[in-house]
Amino acid sequence: MRLSQFFLPILKENPREAEIVSHRLMLRAGMIRQQGQGSFSWLPLGKLVLDKVCRIIREEQNRAGALEILMPTIQSADLWRESGRYDDYGKEMLRIKDRQDRDMLYGPTNEEVVTEIVRAYVKSYKDLPLNLYHIQWKFRDEVRPRFGVMRSREFLMKDAYSFDLDFEGAKAAYNRMFVSYLRTFTRMGLQAIPMRADTGPIGGDLSHEFIILADTGESQVYCDREYLSLQVPGEKTDFGNDVEIADIVKTWTTPYAATDEMHDEAAWDKLGEADRVSARGIEVGHIFHFGDKYSKPMGAKVTGPDGKDHFVSGGSYGIGPSRLVAAIIEASHDDNGIIWPEAVAPFDIGLINMKVGDADCDRVCGELYSAFTGAGKDVLYDDTDQRPGGKFATADLIGLPWQVIVGPRGVAAGEIEIKNRRTGERETLPVTEARKRFGAIA
Ligand code: ATP
Ligand code: MG
Repeated sequence: MRLSQFFLPILKENPREAEIVSHRLMLRAGMIRQQGQGSFSWLPLGKLVLDKVCRIIREEQNRAGALEILMPTIQSADLWRESGRYDDYGKEMLRIKDRQDRDMLYGPTNEEVVTEIVRAYVKSYKDLPLNLYHIQWKFRDEVRPRFGVMRSREFLMKDAYSFDLDFEGAKAAYNRMFVSYLRTFTRMGLQAIPMRADTGPIGGDLSHEFIILADTGESQVYCDREYLSLQVPGEKTDFGNDVEIADIVKTWTTPYAATDEMHDEAAWDKLGEADRVSARGIEVGHIFHFGDKYSKPMGAKVTGPDGKDHFVSGGSYGIGPSRLVAAIIEASHDDNGIIWPEAVAPFDIGLINMKVGDADCDRVCGELYSAFTGAGKDVLYDDTDQRPGGKFATADLIGLPWQVIVGPRGVAAGEIEIKNRRTGERETLPVTEARKRFGAIA
């Protein structure tokens, strides 16, 4: 992509409304545009990152055996009356009437809709286990939307719903999502810690929030330092092996970790001073077992191996991709701007032409651009007539992992410069070496 043809509305000044660094940087880097209270448009740079985040989520959901679907945003109130939640759900739910005066709502979550699907088609235990997920916009009329996309009213959510014959099966499904989440967040360059969360009237210990430690987080959290060095399960993890998966969950739930609501002072006191991490955290995911909470009132049942009817046992598993984009920035930035982890970077390389119009600079940039893109790299080529200082500032602000800098003096010597955004390290290389560095053999 040529920057001259891209839409990157950079802000020079710090926007006053932004209280936290991710919000500030997302506005400054032209990633989002606020449309209304707690609602944002995603501009090209932001959309690229959001898509990469969703792709990782998708890959890990699929790997764990979940199947992607897409359910509507607007739902019928009648369905929610069946589960009993229409009246229970508070003011966060946006209630709407259609032209026939029917009660509708903008989905804050999808348990009812997905349970209706399962009720309609799934009749036997042989059709289970089943895990259906989608990535869809949600609306919650939050009391205090703030911090940009971190807590907005309209936001993207990946929500998965598992269905099993019994608690055993539901627990195995829960564990698969648990492990899938560990992999998902790590791939985004984040260290997420699963913390015991409140299960409310459902009871049991099958609810975890996945928390990123960050000073700007809205929750107070407590955990054992051991979490910071636990090994995240690799690509070869066998999601078909319930025992292997349960072992991983055990490893990741044994050291102490809890959010404020679940904090247990007695257990905490037993930890040595040096092992205690008391910090602020951002909730990026939440998994929850709820058994027959929806299947029973809505009549979603299957015939079991015993020939009898069983209400399916369910759980739901949420991740906030739009919040994650902000969380990644909170975890990875410096004074000059964003530092994208490679896996979610909007482009891999920022190619900077320091003197557009100079025949040699233009030629070398053109050659490198085709070579890098040919090698499968996403390149943002700064071919604008801005001055070098401005180009460097933009490149640092938007945080692409690598900058490849082509200037007239270097080119005359057959050399260019590459800069690693994270370490700030710069290296001068012959052009052919630079091509090799990014897999583009001359
Ligand atoms: P919170 O406690 O932050 O309000 P929640 O517990 O209500 O979140 P869940 O219902 O568990 O959220 O939703 C699943 C995920 O969706 C959350 O882990 C979070 O990543 C994301 N999410 C929830 N609310 C918002 C919001 N207002 N803006 C952006 N993302 C959100
Ligand atoms: Mg939650």
